[in-house]
Amino acid sequence: MLNELLEKLKEITSSATEALAAATTEADVENVKNKTIGRNGSLTALAPMMGKIAKEDKPVAGKAFNEAKTTIQNQLEEARERLADASGASAAEAIDVTLPGRKWRIGTKHPVNQTIDECCAIFRRMGFVVAAGPEIETVHNCFDALNAPADHPSRDPKDTFYFDDGRLLRTQTSTVQIRTMLANKPPIRIVSPGRCYRRDTPDATHGVHFHQIEGLYVDRNVSLADLKNTLEAFAEEFFGKGVTIRMRPHFFPFTEPSAECDFSCVMCGGKGCRVCKNSGWLEILGCGMVNPNVLRNVGINPDEWQGFAFGMGIERLTMLKHRIGDLRLFSDNDLRFLKQF
Ligand SMILES: [Zn+2]
Repeated sequence: MLNELLEKLKEITSSATEALAAATTEADVENVKNKTIGRNGSLTALAPMMGKIAKEDKPVAGKAFNEAKTTIQNQLEEARERLADASGASAAEAIDVTLPGRKWRIGTKHPVNQTIDECCAIFRRMGFVVAAGPEIETVHNCFDALNAPADHPSRDPKDTFYFDDGRLLRTQTSTVQIRTMLANKPPIRIVSPGRCYRRDTPDATHGVHFHQIEGLYVDRNVSLADLKNTLEAFAEEFFGKGVTIRMRPHFFPFTEPSAECDFSCVMCGGKGCRVCKNSGWLEILGCGMVNPNVLRNVGINPDEWQGFAFGMGIERLTMLKHRIGDLRLFSDNDLRFLKQF
């Protein structure tokens, strides 16, 4: 009886091994399971035989029966894994090369930064180098050295962010002029783009921070004609051929004489429209010849050296160039707006 049982177990196990080796689908594997350890399987059918085994042979028979069952279970599991791996591999190979590719969305530069880059590129071609300075400044660099009188309105804490130690968030990029002239001997030819701050109620044309680009040229025999020429060249390069400029007398403490510079309206070509308030001109920048006091403040002899300086708002240039109506769009972080540039 025992030998008969052992013989049958051996038979069932080896035929299951063979069948599983030949299995090519999961259904084949299920089939082997049903025929062996399933409810109506050949191994299960041997269970009643166990009862008829002589008492002294029972431990050997039970062990052999359990071993056969475990072996078949393990082989079933291996067969399932082998088939799953194979189907995974064939799925990976089945790439549909006719499908259009998925595009990686790469960000773009912020429109304000694009304008900064463009301005710097234009002035570099005219021989200027780009200089930078800190946004937290001393009162000396922001006002005193720039010849701003003690009662100048921009010094007022109502207009400017001060720190407890007396320093402030710079109100203009002109501070970089002072730093550059203190660190270098003339001739000097720099532009300095950067962020500035003022206490203001944000609306369509005002914000608490904004960007300027500042220009400074100090050399022998620099004249107002050089300034006008430089600005004219910039206007045409930035806004396109045909854009002209005009200069109107103005007052700034750090330049003498000083002027406001208008560009012919880029919207209407100078004919007059809503943007230029029918004047045909757009206020773009402030400029002038460096005040001799400023040169003296940084140890440069104004009898030997002269210079011109100008500063303009990056946001305004960007708004005019791209026909943007609201300054707040620049800091809203709205991708629907930013993706257009
Ligand atoms: Zn106009």
